[in-house]
Formats: sequence, structure tokens, C-alpha cells
Amino acid sequence: MTTDIDRALEQAQAQYESIKAMVERLEHARGCNAEDWDNCNLDERLADGLAGLDTFIEYHDEDDAQQAIQEDPLSVEVRSGWTTLDYTLEASEFQILLCTGGPAVRIMGELDDDFEPCRAWLEFQDWGTPWTQYIGSYMDDATKQHTLLAYCREFYFGG
Ligand SMILES: [Zn+2]
Repeated sequence: MTTDIDRALEQAQAQYESIKAMVERLEHARGCNAEDWDNCNLDERLADGLAGLDTFIEYHDEDDAQQAIQEDPLSVEVRSGWTTLDYTLEASEFQILLCTGGPAVRIMGELDDDFEPCRAWLEFQDWGTPWTQYIGSYMDDATKQHTLLAYCREFYFGG
């Protein structure tokens, strides 16, 4: 039997996989100098699903890869930390809403002094349940952190 929590977890994992694919594409597009699939060192499984020169050019278009990330979330919001009355409020945390309803998934994170994301994590929620941090069990934290931060850094948070 599939419970609501299972469904929410699956949704969080699906969102993470989608983020990972977009980040991998962007990082690959930035680093690859190949002119066709034969000279591109892309993972075979992925390359198989993306055959043809047209898709090669599209996949390697850096602007396109960046735009795919920027158009992905439903909303991007910030909030400030505690600030004394004589200081101006500045963004110190962010929330990127990826999908909503039951289940909903979002990225939460913190900004450094230059308004760049420095820490990020995924949370999921189903109707009537609190937001819960998503911990994927199949990869180490460093990889997940790198992927989430690379995604979040494609957004402008101020400064
Ligand atoms: Zn390539």
C-alpha cells in the first residue's frame, strides 16, 4: 500500500532527479568542447536518449540550460534574519517552491554576505503534514549539496 508519506517522498525524489539532470546539463554545456555526440564524453545512457545533431546542439546550449533552471520553480522568495531597528532588512534565507498541492516540494536555504546560496536542502509536505526535510539515501551529502547549490545559484537574491 502506498501511503501519503510515500507519495510525498517519491515526489521529492522526482524533483531532486529533475534538478540533478538540469544541473548536469548546465555544467556539461559549460565544459564540453565537442562538436557532435561521437566526440562528447557524456554518459552513454543519457546520450542514447538524446541522439541527433539537433539535440546535441540544443543540449549543449548554455543559455538554454540556464533558462531551463530559471523557469523551473513556481516561486522564489527571500526573508531577512533578525536585524536591529537602525539597519535595513536584507535577504538571508530563501525558499524555492518546486511544486505545490499534495505533495509539495521546496528548496530551503541560506545566503552568505554576498547574497549567494551557501547551504540548501529539500523539504516535502503532504496535506495536513508539516514540512519535512528530504534525505535521499542513495547518494552522499556532498553531491546533493553541490547539486542543490548549483541550481540555487542560478537565481538572483540581491546585492
Ligand atoms: Zn558534450
